[in-house]
Amino acid sequence: MGMTPGNFDYVRVSSFREAARILSEEENSKILAGGQSLIPLLKTRIMNVDLLIDISGIKGSGGIRQEKKSLEIGATYRVGELEGNSLAAESFPILHDAASSIADPLVRNMGTVGGNLAHADPGNDLPPVMVALNAEFTVLGPKGERVERSAAFFKGAFSTSMDHSDTLTSIRINQKDGNVSSAFVKQRKSAGDFSLASVASVVELDDSGNFKDSRTVLGSVFPAPMILEGVDAYLKGKKANSETIKKAASLVRTQINPESDFFASADYRRHVSSLLVNNALTTAVRRSGVNIA
Ligand SMILES: Cc1cc2nc3c(=O)[nH]c(=O)nc-3n(C[C@H](O)[C@H](O)[C@H](O)COP(=O)(O)OP(=O)(O)OC[C@H]3O[C@@H](n4cnc5c(N)ncnc54)[C@H](O)[C@@H]3O)c2cc1C
Repeated sequence: MGMTPGNFDYVRVSSFREAARILSEEENSKILAGGQSLIPLLKTRIMNVDLLIDISGIKGSGGIRQEKKSLEIGATYRVGELEGNSLAAESFPILHDAASSIADPLVRNMGTVGGNLAHADPGNDLPPVMVALNAEFTVLGPKGERVERSAAFFKGAFSTSMDHSDTLTSIRINQKDGNVSSAFVKQRKSAGDFSLASVASVVELDDSGNFKDSRTVLGSVFPAPMILEGVDAYLKGKKANSETIKKAASLVRTQINPESDFFASADYRRHVSSLLVNNALTTAVRRSGVNIA
């Protein structure tokens, strides 16, 4: 396996429009953001490109903004910046949970939120988190801008609803008024490695401490994040306590059908997924102010 990439040209663009134009003109071109997934693929020649279009210098393409009822994250916002952002952590603790658990500080300081989502590696942690948050992605294509729901964006392993000429430009997370909290937990393949399984959970409790709404998403077990609809349906209207959560988590064992591979058996994946659902829901509910054992 070689450790030097093939020959390619490199261009630094100053706007997403420019990136979109070049992408549609050059067939074998690719966006370069933080390079943390792309560069290793080029170095090992698993992938070859003719042209890299660097979007990391586009003014205003990163950053995070609090709007009236939403949090707006620019695609080139670094995972490390997200980890350190107190605004994000306060509104959506799930963002801090996930960002701080990704790889190591070196990778986090380079890797971007948009790159983590666009790459759609089943082992990546931000895809299930954004699906749990029901985030909206703004995508710029040759025909202009469109907004896509995160749940419809992830199609499979390394596959999204974006075409070759599309660029993810920003992510919007809408804020609800009620008692909403969230948590992300994961089990790594080995220390410092990608997730074997992860669970992202967003819960809303009503005034009596019952589950009003929830979205529980399993990451890394299937090619794309999976909303655990059976879990959410079970929780609805029930008291947010440890019995309810335990029962909801136990449903996972019968409701998913993972495959065995080199890293883990199907049974182990079922078991871990169930435990992670329990842990994510417990943490999210505690963060809502409910004192559960
Ligand atoms: C050692 C190591 C460990 C890691 N561990 C984890 C982990 O535990 N959890 C985790 O979630 N991730 C992990 N990662 C992946 C890391 O988070 C990457 O940074 C991320 O997946 C890609 O982001 P990037 O900005 O580096 O994208 P790049 O590598 O620059 O690009 C990745 C792909 O996305 C495309 N792309 C990038 N930005 C856009 C955009 N705005 N619009 C359209 N296409 C775009 C590129 O064309 C390319 O195909 C790890 C990486 C390494 C090297």
